[in-house]
Amino acid sequence: MPERVRCFIGGKSVAGTGIEIPIIYPATEDVIGTLEEAAAAEVDAAVTAARDAFDHGPWPEMGIPRRKEVLLSMRSLLLENAEELAVLECLDTGVPIRTIRGRKMDRLTGNFELFAESLSMMAGQTYQQDRKFLTMVTHEPVGVAALIAPWNSPLSLATTKLAPCIAYGNTCVLKPSEHTPMALARMVEILHEAGLPDGVVNLVNGRGPVTGAALVEHPGVDLVSFTGGTETGRSVMSSAAGNLAPVALELGGKSANIITETADFEQALDGALLAIYSNNGQQCLAGSRILVQRSLADRFIERFVERARQIRLGDPMDPDCEMGPLAFREHFEKVLSYVDIARAEGAELLVGGKRAEGFEAGYYFEPTAVLAPSNGLRVCQEEIFGPFAAIQVYDSLEEAIAIANDTEFGLAAYVWSEDLHTITRATQALRAGTVWVNTPLVREVRAPFGGYKSSGVGRDGVRDCLDFFTEQKTTQIPVGKLSLARLGAGS
Ligand code: NDP
Repeated sequence: MPERVRCFIGGKSVAGTGIEIPIIYPATEDVIGTLEEAAAAEVDAAVTAARDAFDHGPWPEMGIPRRKEVLLSMRSLLLENAEELAVLECLDTGVPIRTIRGRKMDRLTGNFELFAESLSMMAGQTYQQDRKFLTMVTHEPVGVAALIAPWNSPLSLATTKLAPCIAYGNTCVLKPSEHTPMALARMVEILHEAGLPDGVVNLVNGRGPVTGAALVEHPGVDLVSFTGGTETGRSVMSSAAGNLAPVALELGGKSANIITETADFEQALDGALLAIYSNNGQQCLAGSRILVQRSLADRFIERFVERARQIRLGDPMDPDCEMGPLAFREHFEKVLSYVDIARAEGAELLVGGKRAEGFEAGYYFEPTAVLAPSNGLRVCQEEIFGPFAAIQVYDSLEEAIAIANDTEFGLAAYVWSEDLHTITRATQALRAGTVWVNTPLVREVRAPFGGYKSSGVGRDGVRDCLDFFTEQKTTQIPVGKLSLARLGAGS
């Protein structure tokens, strides 16, 4: 385990000259390391190193077969070091190790594999309508990207941006969350051990409003890709606007999970529990508003509560642990504060609602659910980002759809039914970037992923990443000598 997490700039570990920030293991509240915050000077050095690697380094000019080889050797070395990375991510986040070892490591290594492979099929366009010209469109790297990652799933979400960014020939500066810096710091070292040229990936650490803001505002940054909360996203977008830097924003959600009376009851129950309580409840795409049809509401709520009580909270390093602590103290306090908010607004507490018993330390919060009388409640409108479900009862499918769409967010929606017309009507009417039918939380990483409304701008996925991380250049060449009008030639 690293004692100090520093910046990594131009292929070297560099001291941060900002404040020192303790790195806290959320399961015990022990200080397990120190983060050296990057001040404006290190941010500037990182952007300069990325610029230099873009303007003068081998990476953007490298032939695709060689770049692909480097990406695949990064994937192999990440796989070889998967256990070390999984442990660091568990220490960073408190997410159960079994979730990290499986789902997250597959996603981390899969991101490098996918974008390496996408390079093999990269192609531009030609236009053939005008036979006097050859007109071709090619994709070229944009330049220096600022990549800002969240704390709920650092390795997989940071590399969802980083892998396409560098695959398409850009260079970048990555800023992880100050709460979860360790796994990404080690990952950046591994990328260099695998043959990544210096300066292509640079790392700065520190608080969002300090290091993150300095990075996003830096005039040397050509594009910004951000995953995080909606309010921060607004501020990132307006800072980037100063430099006319394009932005991709993956933001928050308050996704509806519609359980209809035509659902397979047991599957819907399993799915609803997974959709809100997996990853310690800290997921942008969580099914945090559970809408249950009246005819099965009593039975569903009773079984949901019974199962929520039985979720195994514990040491996230224990392979049997199903739910660990929340990621950091301020977040724990925020999630806890919604219990009083819910009560004050007239919601009924069904289960949980307090610090979990039996833990002397750690940010353990019980799996929680409230019954909300109306979708207007704050617990139905605001993203809590914790293991906190707001359950509502509805009568008709149209009512459920209206409730589902009555939100500023539009990241995901879920519907559970065995009836074709229910499924087709719901999937057509739900205003969300992803709709899951009879399944929770599947990600087809090739397909677009992103949000309607305040859930984001742009999409992840192969085609959208190619569009975002490349410039398109149109080149026109005449076929044969042109006879041009001769201005000023006197005839
Ligand atoms: P934040 O918006 O607070 O932080 C996200 C990242 O931005 C962190 O690295 C943070 O640094 C940094 N940051 C904070 N302020 C600024 C700033 N002014 N300028 C630049 N960077 C800044 O979000 P959370 O960390 O609270 O993450 C949770 C949110 O992320 C939830 O709303 C969730 O829905 C969303 N999310 C969205 C996903 C998606 O794909 N749509 C996926 C996962 C999460 P630091 O933490 O060090 O302050």
